[in-house]
Amino acid sequence: MWMEGKLQELTIHILPPEVSALIAAGEVVERPASVVKELVENSLDAGASHVSIEVKQGGLDLIRVTDNGKGIPSSDLALAFHRCATSKVTSAQDLARITTLGFRGEALPSIAAAADVEMLSRPADAVAGTYLRLADGKPVGQGTWGAPVGTTVTVLNLFAKQPARRKFMRSPTAENQHIANLVSQYALAYPEVRFSLLLEGRQALITSGSGQLTDAVASVHGADVAAAMLPVRWPEDGERTAITVTGLAGPPHISRASRGYVSLFVNRRWVQNRRLTFAIEEAYSGLLTTGRHPIAIVDLRLPYEEVDVNVHPTKAEVRFRQENEAFAAVQRAVRQALLEQAPVPSLPSTAGVAVAQPTTPQETTLPPLWQRALEREAAVRAAADTVAPSPKVSLPLLRVVGQIGNTYIVAEGPEGIYLIDQHAAHERVLFEEICAARQRQALDAQGLLEPTMVEVSPRQKEVILAHYEVLSEHGFHLEPFGERTYLIRAVPAVLPGKDLSQAFAEFLDILGEETAPDERERVAITLACHAAVTAGQPLAVEEMRELVRRLEQAQVPHTCPHGRPTMIHMSTALLEKEFRRR
Ligand code: ADP
Ligand code: MG
Repeated sequence: MWMEGKLQELTIHILPPEVSALIAAGEVVERPASVVKELVENSLDAGASHVSIEVKQGGLDLIRVTDNGKGIPSSDLALAFHRCATSKVTSAQDLARITTLGFRGEALPSIAAAADVEMLSRPADAVAGTYLRLADGKPVGQGTWGAPVGTTVTVLNLFAKQPARRKFMRSPTAENQHIANLVSQYALAYPEVRFSLLLEGRQALITSGSGQLTDAVASVHGADVAAAMLPVRWPEDGERTAITVTGLAGPPHISRASRGYVSLFVNRRWVQNRRLTFAIEEAYSGLLTTGRHPIAIVDLRLPYEEVDVNVHPTKAEVRFRQENEAFAAVQRAVRQALLEQAPVPSLPSTAGVAVAQPTTPQETTLPPLWQRALEREAAVRAAADTVAPSPKVSLPLLRVVGQIGNTYIVAEGPEGIYLIDQHAAHERVLFEEICAARQRQALDAQGLLEPTMVEVSPRQKEVILAHYEVLSEHGFHLEPFGERTYLIRAVPAVLPGKDLSQAFAEFLDILGEETAPDERERVAITLACHAAVTAGQPLAVEEMRELVRRLEQAQVPHTCPHGRPTMIHMSTALLEKEFRRR
């Protein structure tokens, strides 16, 4: 029903100024991935069932997108490269009800202004294809070629004449990650379309085009994830409502360390929307450990006039007329899928089972004594922060008294009581040990008796290729095993054998992040976090003593590498005062 607009056949025309003035202005070609996005969207708008993408040098040398869509009549080919030329909208009313991915008429001219472009297209009723070559945005050649029905756009030497832009590009591998992620998203949004992505001659992604979302998920996230996904469907079968939500939600036991695994589509458009992403995360509340994020593919459909796409030039943001309704529908749909189908999580406090993180002490109601101790700790930390990187703030020798809640170690020192968070403390200890060992180039790897096979997403694969060295330096010995599969032959020696594929996925996320500066430090933090004892794990007195002894050796014993306190100190003076001994 929503798609009726797509069937309308319009020819390419230049929008009248009063209509083009209403279109959100701005740059669409910021980076190679934006070119891929615009070309893929054009192919999908043309009704293609096959879309192939080929990329060289992160897209700077070549981007080629080939589709089997409806093609462009030869008489319209040059017109398509005019500013504000589109076949998708005509009037201001159309803009209030956008049914296609494109509507601005800006992509082709913008691409042609930043690169050399060749377009070859053949509509079904033509006997041959017509090609058009452009340099500096102007046609430099046109002719006829034999071609299958559909369109091929080749973009060469992107940003060659904009050295500033070219310099700004991080690296071809980083750009390839973006492109792999982008094409993955479209593959998830259009399971009926067969996508193929070739990055630097490697087949990075291929989907079946079977129309089954599960198949697309298997191509992108791997067969194991696909098999575990829970169907999302709202409302229940039969009911007719203006808003529908469908998709697949990962069960809580499959989680990730980054938010990048939530794919959100609104009327089949891949969008970024914080509130809706939050709605999905909210649906998982209580089911995922703090800091973990779900894998979910959510496809929200609502009447076109309820969504404003004309907000941002890259069309990645949308506005809803009734955002609260959209939010509620998404949250309800995902929550229902989880509650009805996910096995109830059991939280036994046995060793090795990750249980929900304890809330930080600040969040619970504490007796005044503890509150004051916390305030003191905060003051200490604030002071410590100002002198960072700290000279060694050593701990006194501590005597272990016991463990409470299988989470905190109680210890006594010359200056009162120390309550130590076992996970945070262990993280601190391991983090420093890992950093020191790396400096000595003495980070041990532990060979696995049975290699573990992991399937990686196209994006993760790009991360592996880009950071192979850092991974092996930290003890991950990988061996390619097919296009998208690796054998892990050895792991960092500090990492216990459990949930290896999850830990590995997390490393790739951390390494793939673009913003944070020091990748080695991030890897060390993640490694420490995974290897550390968890909250809820009973420890023998000997183990606690060993941990406290190592903490005493740490350079910065008072905080974990994430900045949480490792301990709360209650001084003798404070105790005396509280018990009114003085
Ligand atoms: P928009 O997509 O906003 O209309 P573009 O500059 O991306 O603007 O494309 C201009 C026009 O060229 C489109 O409206 C469409 O008619 C035509 N076109 C572009 N790419 C294709 C394609 N792959 N197949 C068929 N037509 C295309
Ligand atoms: Mg377009």
